Amino acid sequence: MQKERQILLIYTGGTVGMVVDPETDSLVPFDFKNVSEHVPEIKKFDFLVDSISFNPLIDSSDMSPLIWSKLAGVIEDNYLKYDGFVILHGTDTMAYSASALSFMLQNLGKPVVFTGSQLPLGMLRTDGKENIITALEIAAAQNNIHQPLVPEVSIFFQDKLFRGNRTKKDSSEQFSAFRSANYPPLAEAGIYLKYNYSVINNSTNQGPFTVMKKMDSNVAILKLFPGISREVVCSIFNIAGLKAVVLETYGSGNAPTAKWFLDEVKEAIARGIIILNVSQCMGGSVEMGRYETGVYLLNHGVVSGYDITTESAVTKLMFLLANCKSTEEIKSSLNKSLQGEINL
Ligand code: ASP
Repeated sequence: MQKERQILLIYTGGTVGMVVDPETDSLVPFDFKNVSEHVPEIKKFDFLVDSISFNPLIDSSDMSPLIWSKLAGVIEDNYLKYDGFVILHGTDTMAYSASALSFMLQNLGKPVVFTGSQLPLGMLRTDGKENIITALEIAAAQNNIHQPLVPEVSIFFQDKLFRGNRTKKDSSEQFSAFRSANYPPLAEAGIYLKYNYSVINNSTNQGPFTVMKKMDSNVAILKLFPGISREVVCSIFNIAGLKAVVLETYGSGNAPTAKWFLDEVKEAIARGIIILNVSQCMGGSVEMGRYETGVYLLNHGVVSGYDITTESAVTKLMFLLANCKSTEEIKSSLNKSLQGEINL
């Protein structure tokens, strides 16, 4: 007889797990041990759901590499016991956390589905219930030889399942709060849950599951804008201990051609700082050879981010800085898709 599937629901904090306190009328987190009181549908599944809660719970604006390590550790400790994981997380930094975990969880062979909600579970029109129910269903979904359908880190929200490291929060109000402009949804939820098998990462020649918890956060984001001053650029490139910069450029990876700007870039690269070119556009890719304004960057040693999101770029750099032995190794890994985060 087939063993009963078991899913672990991990509540980290955020809007989703809140209810109205009748005494104060304000929103407060509820005890997740009683999750089925708020989502009684959980009892109807033909698989078991256990839940654990972070202590303290955090608004995802307080998310940090340390908490990602803790989260990765929870999955590591429970990996053999459970068939899949659902992580309830605030929406604000969910795309960063999903990207970070996609790099930390090496050779992942089970689903890790992030979800949350725009309205708390304790409110009448909540989107949290549907999101939790569908995320659990996806985490437990297996084919007829009991292999998981989506063995990667993903984000489910409203009606779409996206690859975690391809996703961005793009609305603070809509129920469909996330978007993945450069990669198609892994699944869509309507009357049926339709899996887009051809785009799901199902690589079979994997080594053993391992968790790499170290991250190095000596990273900065420099977003260009017309009128940006030398002082701003110079002060970011000269932050003590800085090792890498995500340079948010225009369009297909273009930047000012002013001599002072290129001198600052050149000087920073000469000091060993890695500069990764990521487009400010929601969709499309960096192509530094396309315009003269990009060619300069390429010639000065700026690395292409291809079609990576800023969330994924920041966490990929943190991961590589902590785990690679040399700048060359980091640069060569930036030119590779490690977890499906870029199209080359
Ligand atoms: N500020 C909240 C958070 O990210 C918002 C949410 O949960 O959607 O934790």
